[in-house]
Amino acid sequence: MVDRALTAMDNLDQLWRAHSEHSDLAALNRNAGETFTRLRYETLNMLQKGTELEESFGGAFNMFLGPVTALWGFQTDRPGIPDSAAIAEALPSTKGGLVFSSDSAMLEFPGMKLDVGGIAKGEAVDMAVFTLMNLKVEAFIVEAGGDLRTFGLPKEGKQWRIGIAHPRKPGALYGTLKVGQRSVATSGDYQQFFIEDGKRYHHIIDPETGWPADRCVSATVVAQTCTEADAAATALFVMGPEKGMEWLAHHSEYQGLIIYLDQKGKLKHKISPALEDSFKLR
Ligand code: AMP
Ligand code: MG
Repeated sequence: MVDRALTAMDNLDQLWRAHSEHSDLAALNRNAGETFTRLRYETLNMLQKGTELEESFGGAFNMFLGPVTALWGFQTDRPGIPDSAAIAEALPSTKGGLVFSSDSAMLEFPGMKLDVGGIAKGEAVDMAVFTLMNLKVEAFIVEAGGDLRTFGLPKEGKQWRIGIAHPRKPGALYGTLKVGQRSVATSGDYQQFFIEDGKRYHHIIDPETGWPADRCVSATVVAQTCTEADAAATALFVMGPEKGMEWLAHHSEYQGLIIYLDQKGKLKHKISPALEDSFKLR
């Protein structure tokens, strides 16, 4: 059964891997601004959900950062600081959107490139969860790279206890969170990064500037689906503690924990009131 869920996730991975020239996403990039591309249901579904979610994050979440993220090179084994002129040149091509037409879609302008790294993991988790649900598995957690979704409960009357990674101590926990049947996703500046001249550069980009977002160090979101949690964690990371908590206050179906550095460089956090009782600091 687990095999079947893993196969479901593997299939999506292959379908979406931007590097593979045969993937749905590579075809969309190739045909940008020119022709519609017929897409598998799974791809269409993810892109439509991503487009809807994007609107609610007011610019913090952008699935079209491909031209900018390619410059940073976090998908390669040699990331580095790009030329700021190159970033400025790439930014305009991140401002377009997708046009949908029945089972096809097209990137609005030539030169646009998708980067669905902020949402694809969550969507893959959700698909694996549906596979296991269809197989009538009673209780489980599906996890991919730190983003997870629970189903059922571990024991009668018990909740799942989820560890939140410590953003500055590799392998250690910052705290734990008890959840029922929910999804939990974390975006952090410690997941993919390099340090140059004492400054940290990481893979979550502020779409306004094209440079790594620096308002916080980690954002965890609890939501119903893992697609929502994944996208929201990336978006809240970009928004930072103030704007992020304000967004959460207006979206009661989401809860979050945002860890940031105060002016003295000390770790602090803000948490949704609805999570306070289920959160335990380590
Ligand atoms: P996550 O680990 O879920 O926060 O996603 C980070 C990944 O999403 C990066 O590796 C990029 O592929 C992509 N990404 C970076 N910045 C953004 C952003 N502001 N909005 C959407 N996706 C992003
Ligand atoms: Mg994400």
